[in-house]
Amino acid sequence: MPLLSVISPFLNEWDTAEAFARFVKSMSLEVRQRFGLDVEVVLVDDGSTDGSTARYRQVLEGNWRIVELSRNFGKEIALVSGVEESRGDYVLMIDADLQHPYEVCIDIINTLLADPDLDVVYSIRADRMQESWPRAFGAKLFYRLINGGQRFVIPENAGDFRIMRREAANALLTIRDKRRFNKGLYAWMGFRQKGIPYTPDPRAAGKTKWPRLALAALSLEGITSFSAVPLRIMSAIGVGIGCAGMAYGVELIMKVLLFGTDVPGYPSLMASISVLGGFNLALLGLLGEYIWVTIAEVKDRPLYIVRRIHRSGPSQ
Ligand code: UDP
Ligand code: MG
Repeated sequence: MPLLSVISPFLNEWDTAEAFARFVKSMSLEVRQRFGLDVEVVLVDDGSTDGSTARYRQVLEGNWRIVELSRNFGKEIALVSGVEESRGDYVLMIDADLQHPYEVCIDIINTLLADPDLDVVYSIRADRMQESWPRAFGAKLFYRLINGGQRFVIPENAGDFRIMRREAANALLTIRDKRRFNKGLYAWMGFRQKGIPYTPDPRAAGKTKWPRLALAALSLEGITSFSAVPLRIMSAIGVGIGCAGMAYGVELIMKVLLFGTDVPGYPSLMASISVLGGFNLALLGLLGEYIWVTIAEVKDRPLYIVRRIHRSGPSQ
């Protein structure tokens, strides 16, 4: 029987563990009946400190493994370790907090199995489409920026919640980027992909592990690892200001030489110094971001470290 791996990273999800176990149990039953697939569950303990792993070990049934990482590496990297540990012909990635509705999971599996020409079926957050206009505008601008002049397009609001055939999952494993902007990596991989809109459920319990600031950081990661456009914009602005400054300088010299006009020195000096200084600092900061990404790649540390792997017993 072909195998479906359900992969789910978790960080301190003690409260949702039991509901999750029930969720995958019914999914295993339905998937076996409807699609003739066996199911293995691969959980990744991304540095939990609340004893979640012990809880999952109590409540999980069937064929499961828990990859316990040595500390918190972040969801993006935890997912990679889960895929690495998985053996399935198909890989389904869902959140441990059950925000990905059961019906949508089944729908995503069904869509992939129904079309042999598809390699990946991913979810698109439909609730993001009705956001306030400043946020929607920001998102548009962000995707414009990172998609400018690329050979692949990063779709808006595509999530980690997706199913992939083994070939695509293996492709994901070959990408060893240290700072991971998953949306970009999925798009970079290529393959035949299809998006399905859905609205996430509220969390089953507990609270989100994503502070707002982390989202901003992730956007910056998206830009620095997928786009040189900001660098080019800054360079273009620099050249523009430089030329304007030179023209202004020539004008001043002409005025003094030809008409003997007294040019006010202080205001013009302050203006040019602050304009140039400001842009210089901004560009330096941006350069620093790119260099920081480069340093992480050059050090070439492993993506993650596994502390221990827990398995379901042979009797189960
Ligand atoms: N998560 C993780 N490592 C982290 C942060 C989150 O494995 O460093 C897991 C978390 O337990 C959950 C999933 O990633 O299963 C999504 O996280 P969360 O629900 O906090 O994010 P949101 O749904 O609010 O975007
Ligand atoms: Mg969540």
